[in-house]
Amino acid sequence: MNKVKEIFGSMVFDNSVMREKLPKETYKIMQNTIQNGKRLDSEVANVVANAMKDWAIEKGATHFTHWFQPMTGITAEKHDSFISPDTDGKIIMEFSGKELVKGESDASSFPSGGIRSTFEARGYTAWDPTSYAFIKDNTLYIPTAFCSYGGEAIDKKTPLLRSMEAINKQALRIVKIFGNDNVTSVKTTVGPEQEYFLVDKTLYDRRPDLIFTGRTLIGAKAPKGQELDDHYYGTIKPRIKEFMNDLDEELWKLGILAKTEHNEAAPAQHELAPIFTTTNIATDHNQLTMNLLQTVAAKHGLVCLLHEKPFAGVNGSGKHNNWSLSTNTGVNLLEPGETPYENAQFLIFLCAVIKAVDEYQDLLRISVASASNDHRLGSNEAPPAVVSIFLGEELWAILNAIETDTPYDTKEKELLRIGVHAMPRFAKDTTDRNRTSPFAFTGNKFEFRMLGSSANIAECNIVLNTAIAEVLNEFANALEGADDCEPVIHDLIKNTIKDHKRILFNGNGYDDDWIKEAESRGLLNLRTTPEALARFLDEKNVTLFANNKVFSEAEMRARCEIMYQGYSKVINIEALTMLDMVKGDVIPAVRSYMKQLADCAFSMKQISKNIDVTYETETLARLSDICAHAYSMTKDIDKKLCDIKSISDEKEKAFAYKEINDMMLELRKLVDEMETLTAKDYWPYPSYAELLFGVR
Ligand code: ADP
Ligand code: MG
Repeated sequence: MNKVKEIFGSMVFDNSVMREKLPKETYKIMQNTIQNGKRLDSEVANVVANAMKDWAIEKGATHFTHWFQPMTGITAEKHDSFISPDTDGKIIMEFSGKELVKGESDASSFPSGGIRSTFEARGYTAWDPTSYAFIKDNTLYIPTAFCSYGGEAIDKKTPLLRSMEAINKQALRIVKIFGNDNVTSVKTTVGPEQEYFLVDKTLYDRRPDLIFTGRTLIGAKAPKGQELDDHYYGTIKPRIKEFMNDLDEELWKLGILAKTEHNEAAPAQHELAPIFTTTNIATDHNQLTMNLLQTVAAKHGLVCLLHEKPFAGVNGSGKHNNWSLSTNTGVNLLEPGETPYENAQFLIFLCAVIKAVDEYQDLLRISVASASNDHRLGSNEAPPAVVSIFLGEELWAILNAIETDTPYDTKEKELLRIGVHAMPRFAKDTTDRNRTSPFAFTGNKFEFRMLGSSANIAECNIVLNTAIAEVLNEFANALEGADDCEPVIHDLIKNTIKDHKRILFNGNGYDDDWIKEAESRGLLNLRTTPEALARFLDEKNVTLFANNKVFSEAEMRARCEIMYQGYSKVINIEALTMLDMVKGDVIPAVRSYMKQLADCAFSMKQISKNIDVTYETETLARLSDICAHAYSMTKDIDKKLCDIKSISDEKEKAFAYKEINDMMLELRKLVDEMETLTAKDYWPYPSYAELLFGVR
């Protein structure tokens, strides 16, 4: 057998392994649980646990872990070995259904936004059978949801599963209205494209900013950036190719459908895209991918930077969340169909997305908000902070014809009537796509492009699924009560376009004029994380999540606090790192170089008054100015950091940290100028040129 085929999924307890290892009856029950979310009883759990353990031990595993996604944004795990003493002083390998289904952990060490103090510090992890267990590093990983003692979600998987349930429920109502009675579940699907940078480990180790914050806080631009467009899709260097081969192999073993890998726009930047799968699994897989990117890079003497903006002056890294809905019968509900009925159903789902994105643009913006992503959004390398939808000219024309009751094809002079007409064929050519839109329809799915590279994709999918579920519910209510659906469908489409066309924009999203226009259309432009978060607890948002049983108000309050705190903590670490670098390395280095310049000028003048020392004196004067200014800025930042400590309100604190962020930008300008004036031998850190072009 082909090697790839052999290794693909070899470390996953997937359907084929279950079919082979589980008794027939147990296998059937498991399938029902995976497909339709039916609960498992403890007897079944015991059988599954035992089969899992035997399979894992065969593959060399010695430990198991519940694997979860706390609010830190990364994953967490606690390993236990399978060993248990027997009566002869030896051991047996054991794993019970109880251990599979539920784990207990100390929740107090994870962010809980105050939820924990109202209950006990205990937290629970609960097996998520819809995402397969797998083996990594001789450990059996069990994907789990993580909740507090009181059952509140303090992770990212629990609300994601709840949101998938919400959209499943409402989408099923819609497909039933269109007569698809054989459909029993609708799942959202996601293919996340992942960007990242690779830098040489030896250079990385000499940059405290990369080590502590994942990005360069200072650094003068290299003479060359990405202006020649020679990196995007360029030939992959052998060392990077070896890394990618290794990475693919590791990903394939875990059943991750790694498909496309190429160089991205910035030097040292790359992208990896998997084939799409169910959102829950795609989320777990993306977390694993980010983890493996880092561990495999380390084996190649490289460091993978997942930060949204590791280097100023070249593109940062994002993630594209390609999203759609499909039925268990294999129908993509965002695929325009061939028959009038299919088309009407497609248009209803399309309109639900349009309405949901417009009404909850604030939540979508919040779902991608982080201190790190603030560096990208709106800076001409990523979509702006304004959410809008690109539909393409033809689909737009179809919706427009329905809205205005005018013929779609002027030659035919016939009105487009949903339920009678097959939708006019429109080109699904994807070669000329709008790549500047935050939310683009790409033929049979939407591509949400505002995510940062380090984001957990659960966040935006929770919002998408819930907001669309809410609108589908409203549509289903209108349709279920109707004797004749056709006029209702027509009106739903017409009204959606009429009320929400402000969110539709086919032009260049990076254009400044668009931002002005967007604001005049009443679209939100929430530039920074604190500004965005200030909207999270708006009444309509609390109602949305409560209606769909995704978050209680208490869970939302906790989340909001965690997000504010996360933002503040990141900037606090960055500020401390920067002060340390500037005061501990940069200023002393610049002062040594200044002394060198002064000594040099002095001794040269001693030799002869005629020797020109303009370089020395001018450089010295300029460095002296900037250095003094930089030093005074460090004192200002220090003072502000000190003052912030007395602020107790998390929101107010975050806004204060936003100001620190701006001060750091000012300080950076000074430091970067000093770098260009200081002899290379004196500069304490590897330069941008080395970092960006150093991998050979
Ligand atoms: P690009 O956006 O770079 O042109 P593609 O259009 O080929 O790339 O696909 C981007 C991603 O969209 C891939 O991960 C792909 O698997 C995913 N994708 C394709 N169809 C769907 C779908 N129905 N649901 C979710 N994701 C999808
Ligand atoms: Mg894309």
